[in-house]
Amino acid sequence: MARRIFRNIALVSVLAVLLSAALIVPTLYRAYEESMCTELMQEARIIAGVLQNEGDEASFLQTLPADSRITLIAPDGEVLFDNWADALHMENHARRPEIQQALQNGAGQSTRASDTLSEITLYCALRTNDGKILRIGSTRRSIIGTFVNMLPLIGGMLMGIALLSILIARKAARKIVEPINALDLDHPLENEAYDELAPLLTRMHRQREEIKQHMQALESARAELAAIMANMREGMVLLSQEQTVLSMNESAARIFNIPAERAIGQKLCVVDRSADLAGLTQRCLAGQRCSIDMQRGERQYELFINPVLCESGVRGIVILVLDVTERYAAEKSRREFTANVSHELKTPLTSISGFAEIIRDGIAQPQDIPHFAGMICKESARLIALVNDILELSRLDEKQGLPAWESVSLQPLLGALVQDLSLAAQKKRLNVRLSCEECAVCGDPILLRELFFNLLDNAIKYTPEGGCIDITAAPEGGKIACAVSDSGIGIPAEHLPHIFERFYRVDKSHSRQTGGTGLGLAIVKHIALLHGAQLELSSKEGRGTKISVRFPLSK
Ligand code: ADP
Repeated sequence: MARRIFRNIALVSVLAVLLSAALIVPTLYRAYEESMCTELMQEARIIAGVLQNEGDEASFLQTLPADSRITLIAPDGEVLFDNWADALHMENHARRPEIQQALQNGAGQSTRASDTLSEITLYCALRTNDGKILRIGSTRRSIIGTFVNMLPLIGGMLMGIALLSILIARKAARKIVEPINALDLDHPLENEAYDELAPLLTRMHRQREEIKQHMQALESARAELAAIMANMREGMVLLSQEQTVLSMNESAARIFNIPAERAIGQKLCVVDRSADLAGLTQRCLAGQRCSIDMQRGERQYELFINPVLCESGVRGIVILVLDVTERYAAEKSRREFTANVSHELKTPLTSISGFAEIIRDGIAQPQDIPHFAGMICKESARLIALVNDILELSRLDEKQGLPAWESVSLQPLLGALVQDLSLAAQKKRLNVRLSCEECAVCGDPILLRELFFNLLDNAIKYTPEGGCIDITAAPEGGKIACAVSDSGIGIPAEHLPHIFERFYRVDKSHSRQTGGTGLGLAIVKHIALLHGAQLELSSKEGRGTKISVRFPLSK
């Protein structure tokens, strides 16, 4: 900027100097020429006046100083005297313009340039009283000569101007630029620099505001997206066309077992080496939507691979990873349950139909008929118990929560239960002890009764004659701790993890003999879950079993 200012200032100055010189020099020169002419004419008049009284004109003129050229010319143009040259050798001057003018008008003047044009001679001619012409000439520098003579001065001036221009330009540039440099571009409207900058600053302010609004909108959209992605249980991976990971949420990072920061910028094959997934992403790049199942450890995932489409085609890929472990497990258990139910129903039905056929075909001896009828009754009862338990389980499966929760006091509930099962216990001469403190559980009294019924029923079934059963219930550590323990046959350690599964029985034949369905503990687990209770099982083969249920305190 300083250079530009310098250039402009220097140019203007040089032009000003040259223009001034071009205007002033001729004007001055003309004025100088005019005054010189007047002076010469004056001189000629004085000399002419003196010449009137002089007898020998040549001698008089010879006495005058030779600064100016003095020539005396006869009316016919013959040179009578010249103080700079020999008059005898001079040509006739009658045709000289100043002489002709003087002969006609009494006075005349003319200028003649020297051969080099650097000098001119100004001639002033005056007609004397006796008709002769007195001419005085003076040689001076011509206008070109004057100009050439002034060149060093003009050059010096130009150099001075150049120097001055540099100084002024530097200062001016600094002064001009200073307020521009000091502009506060963060607050354009608060600047008071130049009025000329006002439109620019206003525009800048407007654009800043627009950019700010856009940035805010973008930022809030980005934050929204980031919040959605961060809080998604599902994994989400965004890939570029080149299958480079552009973004990955925490859930996806957990599923693929790679830190999100490390995955971003990497190719998909670094994140997951599965050839199936790579094949599907290729298909997706061709515009197809695909899905695939994937197993990671014990969890099952379903991947939806969708292309990101825009006008120009596929711009990238979005992979959505859903954890379907629970759904898979539920489907699996439903399949198993159906198979188990069919199997369980088939056994008593086969027995019933077998016994009925024997009676119908008259194969059975009359004395055996009551026995077969008894078997039919027993199997039917088992069938009914089985169907009841299945119905109960599916009823529980459908329950999302308990509709009518109430505070259920455990003392009367457990007391009545012990009473109800006392006959069965007495048959096996079991010592059933109930120790229940005053406490209540929030829940459904019918379901709670069923839970404890199943536990007590099992304890009676799996405890040999003369054994002991203890039922306890008391507040403990912010919970209501209940337990049913027996001194029965116990459960082998390898069966403990499966004991709450549907239709799981340690000893099928013993369970059948006792009328067990294999669903009792599955129902217990379900009811406990509905009541937010925790189940604990401890058992030693041949020593006994203890099943604890810890309910949350009723509010
Ligand atoms: P079941 O109708 O066969 O008793 P459950 O679901 O109630 O079915 O019990 C599952 C299995 O757990 C039983 O078959 C039995 O082998 C075992 N079991 C349950 N409770 C006890 C207990 N108190 N003592 C020993 N084994 C038990």
